[in-house]
Amino acid sequence: MTDQRRVEPLIQLEGVSKRYRMGTTIVAALQEVDFTSPAGGVIALVGPSGSGKSTLLHVIGGMDRADEGQVMVAGSALEKLTPSQLTEFRRNKVGFVFQAFNLIPNLTALENVTLPAEFAGMAGGEARRRAAELLERVGLTGRLRHRPGQLSGGEQQRVAIARALINRPALVLADEPTGNLDTETGAAIVEVLTSLAGEQTVIIATHDERIAGAAGRIIHLSDGRIGKDQVVSRQADTVAS
Ligand code: ADP
Repeated sequence: MTDQRRVEPLIQLEGVSKRYRMGTTIVAALQEVDFTSPAGGVIALVGPSGSGKSTLLHVIGGMDRADEGQVMVAGSALEKLTPSQLTEFRRNKVGFVFQAFNLIPNLTALENVTLPAEFAGMAGGEARRRAAELLERVGLTGRLRHRPGQLSGGEQQRVAIARALINRPALVLADEPTGNLDTETGAAIVEVLTSLAGEQTVIIATHDERIAGAAGRIIHLSDGRIGKDQVVSRQADTVAS
């Protein structure tokens, strides 16, 4: 399986366009995007606000559908999936990390991380054991019974990263994950995210230069189009343009 994943691209987008209608105006959020990535490594998606970073993450993660083009991720052609197949794809293949953490306030860290595993049908004991392991891995030993309100921003984002990993996704998509954090805390979160690469492919939409610097590949978006596509280390081996 590992050998196969090295050869097959994990992500392959061809001619992907996405438009939004705002009253009488049509916004072209993505325009004829071609993008290929093998499994593993960290990709930073950079570009000004409104350049299409979130839209691209949503299309790759099956949270939104492209209007045109093909989106192949982890062996699934997303445009061909029914809504329930798409839900299953998101649950099993993708972990999401958001700027605002999006934890459930009245659940503990352990319960927040366990929840997606329970939805995916993992037995309760196994889900809790794996959640505890992940929370330790992201540096939250001793915080398992804390609720989000009892945790700092950086700690909440660590919980969100553990939650994103619970179902062993092929892909972790992070949308401005350090946007609500101070510089030092953000740097630590970047380290946690980059330490995942190898097992997971991590794509981070960011304005943050430090994240871009830590990535193996930096893709620049402008007006919904991919411009510069830089490979900055041996982690990634595909350059689309
Ligand atoms: P970024 O993440 O780079 O800030 P987005 O992907 O959020 O960019 O947005 C790309 C463009 O699409 C922007 O012009 C934005 O206003 C527009 N857009 C995004 N989502 C919606 C939506 N749900 N409805 C209407 N327009 C949207």
